[in-house]
Amino acid sequence: MLIDTHAHLADSQFDADRDAVIARARDAGVATLIEIAESPDTWDPAVRLAETHPLMYASVGIHPHHAHHAGPAEWPAMAERLRRLAGHPKVIAIGEFGLDYVRMQNTRDQQDFLFRRQLELALELKKPVVIHCREAHEDLQKALGEFFPKSSTAFECPRPSGVIHCFSGAWSDAQTYMLHGFMLGFDAPVTYPSAKSLQEVVTRMPLERVVLETDSPYLPPQTRRGQRNEPAYLPAVAEAVAALKRKTLPDVSQRTSRNARTLFRL
Ligand SMILES: [Zn+2]
Ligand SMILES: [Zn+2]
Repeated sequence: MLIDTHAHLADSQFDADRDAVIARARDAGVATLIEIAESPDTWDPAVRLAETHPLMYASVGIHPHHAHHAGPAEWPAMAERLRRLAGHPKVIAIGEFGLDYVRMQNTRDQQDFLFRRQLELALELKKPVVIHCREAHEDLQKALGEFFPKSSTAFECPRPSGVIHCFSGAWSDAQTYMLHGFMLGFDAPVTYPSAKSLQEVVTRMPLERVVLETDSPYLPPQTRRGQRNEPAYLPAVAEAVAALKRKTLPDVSQRTSRNARTLFRL
């Protein structure tokens, strides 16, 4: 049984066949699905999905792409909504949020403001965080370091603080995140022949810190490039991780599912 820790099934690309997509995921061995709501207008649809489908949970946050609509004037009302939503039994995390320096529609200062407010809120609410980071690892690590103290070893993770989702950094970044108590989320790019440095990270890091995700409808596996991704393709990610770790597929499924349950307290 697998857990897809990151999907966007409220996306309009699933409007025509959402229930079939969820049924296919279940048939493919995905026992639990975490719906990630990344802007205020997706929060309620995500919670409704989680209420409707017993295998689904929701995480609510504001993606850095929306930082120019979530400044000091707008944030207090958004924080109030997030506090209310966080009381829902199916809302298990805050995110995705973070820093994204690729195709920026706003400034680094705007992103930094929103990133720190959501870190503070997650700590206040005692929820794990789902962190998005693209080409911003240095700034991200600086901020995370202020909120999450370093532990003495990258291998000990009694209570994970969150996940660096769709990890795309170097091995040194991976080590830093693990020291701050984070798990790393891996997606179908591990199946791409060109993703050598990502595969190296998977090979070197402890399986105890790995969670699997699809990021559906984005990032389809190698065999389905150019198509819409969906949670039923999660086994392709698990198989790639198993090959890199020289483990069996059941071992990887079991271990990463246990990691996800610990992380999201399921
Ligand atoms: Zn993301
Ligand atoms: Zn995402």
